[in-house]
Amino acid sequence: MPIATTNPATGQVLKSYEPMSTEQIDAAIERADLAFRDLHRTTLAQRAQWMNAAADLLDAERDETARLMTTEMGKTYAAAKAEVTKCATACRFYAANAERMLADEPADAAAVQAKRAFVRYQPIGAVLAVMPWNFPLWQVMRFAAPALMAGNTGLLKHASNVPQTALYLEDVFRRAGFPEGAFTTLLVGSDAVDRILSDPRVRAATLTGSEGAGRSIAQIAGRELKKTVLELGGSDPFVVMPSADLDRAAEVATTARCQNNGQSCIAAKRFIVHTDVFDAFAGKFAANMAALRVGDPMDADTDVGPLASESGRDEIDAQVQDAVAHGATVLCGGEKPTGDGWFYPPTVVTDLNPQMRMWAEEVFGPVAGLYRVSSYGEAVAVANGTPFGLGANAWTTDPAEQERFATDLDAGNVFVNGMTTSYPELPFGGVKNSGYGRELSALGMREFCNTKTVWVGEGAATAGAGAHAE
Ligand code: NAP
Repeated sequence: MPIATTNPATGQVLKSYEPMSTEQIDAAIERADLAFRDLHRTTLAQRAQWMNAAADLLDAERDETARLMTTEMGKTYAAAKAEVTKCATACRFYAANAERMLADEPADAAAVQAKRAFVRYQPIGAVLAVMPWNFPLWQVMRFAAPALMAGNTGLLKHASNVPQTALYLEDVFRRAGFPEGAFTTLLVGSDAVDRILSDPRVRAATLTGSEGAGRSIAQIAGRELKKTVLELGGSDPFVVMPSADLDRAAEVATTARCQNNGQSCIAAKRFIVHTDVFDAFAGKFAANMAALRVGDPMDADTDVGPLASESGRDEIDAQVQDAVAHGATVLCGGEKPTGDGWFYPPTVVTDLNPQMRMWAEEVFGPVAGLYRVSSYGEAVAVANGTPFGLGANAWTTDPAEQERFATDLDAGNVFVNGMTTSYPELPFGGVKNSGYGRELSALGMREFCNTKTVWVGEGAATAGAGAHAE
């Protein structure tokens, strides 16, 4: 894939970059390794000061950064501005909470025949972050803010279609005061990842992206015995039960499917509706979807901008046409427009069956699948019946049902009467083919820490007696 900014609203290539040479990559890894030796010895107060400065820069430069993101990947300008603000919030959250999250955790010293025993969290070194274009600032920041606060250094291999946003991120951390090499953008294609992750100076990797990319990185990391965190695709269920507030559910369903032009890993993609309320919900939902305004993402009246790439649009159109060929009914949308830009109308498809690609595949665009079920058990079975397990939504006002959904939905995040979203305070991640490991919260910060057990004895010759020799 060429490393270039191409405006998805026009299809015009605006800026191209040569991939970095192997010498440049090696030099960047060396700088990251050297920077780690300094960064992890700086105080948390110092790192917090830099992280807060990064947040201030993000706030001050919000509008122009948002414009850049919209130009590179097509999200609406309003959504891009909100993303920048969310990044600033995450920086401040980790600046304020890192000390608590990384504090030594005392253990029961007497139980392990110690004078003192505790767990200490320490950074591990340079971490490679392979990131996607869909939330080009946020996906990176939710790795970078906790990782840098912990004292690790970051090497970013961003998606090839967002090079300017990638360079901006490096620039923000440098201007905020972080030392040279603490956070580096590598302008490279995915073919360079093997070489980078195989380098002994790179200690771990995090990837947010597709299942295929996840498998590839996990293989390299397995060979090299390196830790990975994988945030992969999803095909989140959105279950609507008879007791749900249908107006509210249909309104949130529309946002949950179409935010970010339908290109979110945690977008609700499969709408699983109890037969008692199916027709009522389907009517409201399809009407809401059809009413969304598709157009120039810089226009304040636009709800849905273009898909990020032509191939992405072709893929969702192929999924819709495949469903139609196998007997699906299109309630709205479903036709690829002609003209400039990679637009696709919000689409609702029903009468689905397992022969259709949409049944098991992720649909990465504003296309919703509607499923009719006749019981709680069937709803859970359809909800869990995919290879993915990222987020899941259930709509019911019955408290007993809320509890059951929380347990029975096989996903990393369950939101009841709401849509899945991420908060710095809460862990985020998936199960099954949606990946493993967690981002955000204290758990996200500790993923790239050495969880070190420290045992301190009396210093007498018998210290340690009674412990198993392992
Ligand atoms: P993608 O094609 O997997 O790309 C993501 C990143 O991985 C890019 O930097 C890409 O580089 C790189 N990459 C691709 N193939 C690779 C390989 N074989 N080896 C090493 N690196 C590789 O995904 P995308 O189309 O950009 O993003 C959409 C996918 O990401 C969807 O499946 C979505 O659900 C998922 N996603 C998941 C989360 C989550 O938190 N779980 C969040 C957002 C998105 P190039 O750009 O150079 O190809």
